[in-house]
Amino acid sequence: MWIPGAREAIKLANDQGYLVFVVTNQSGIGRGYYGEQAVHALHDQMNADLAKIDAHIDGLEFCPHHPKEAQPEYLTTCDCRKPAPGMLLRLIAKWQIDPAQSLMIGDKDTDVAAATAANVSGHLFSDGNLRDFLAPLLTD
Ligand SMILES: [Zn+2]
Repeated sequence: MWIPGAREAIKLANDQGYLVFVVTNQSGIGRGYYGEQAVHALHDQMNADLAKIDAHIDGLEFCPHHPKEAQPEYLTTCDCRKPAPGMLLRLIAKWQIDPAQSLMIGDKDTDVAAATAANVSGHLFSDGNLRDFLAPLLTD
């Protein structure tokens, strides 16, 4: 489930004093393919794996909504489905984060768009080693 260097990238960010968050569209919840508890279980599994190298994720935000295809309680044009910045804005408010000191790495243009809309520097990662990609972006 981990792309190359992902765990090591998280550890690097931890060690340099950054908070680390996962921000993910999960319209499969809205569509009824799986429940919210599956996302929480995934988060727990990720942190269990990361604990082995003394790393951790500080929080996870997910959007369960979809504007067109979802069960009624999730059928909405929300403010959190990327490219909307709602999940990032929630984290920025909750953790009192300075967006100018933050960065986001994603594998889709919508990830970068969400970052930009939250005044966070967005970086598109396609392949390679995530730690090597992240290292030059961090400031000591
Ligand atoms: Zn949403």
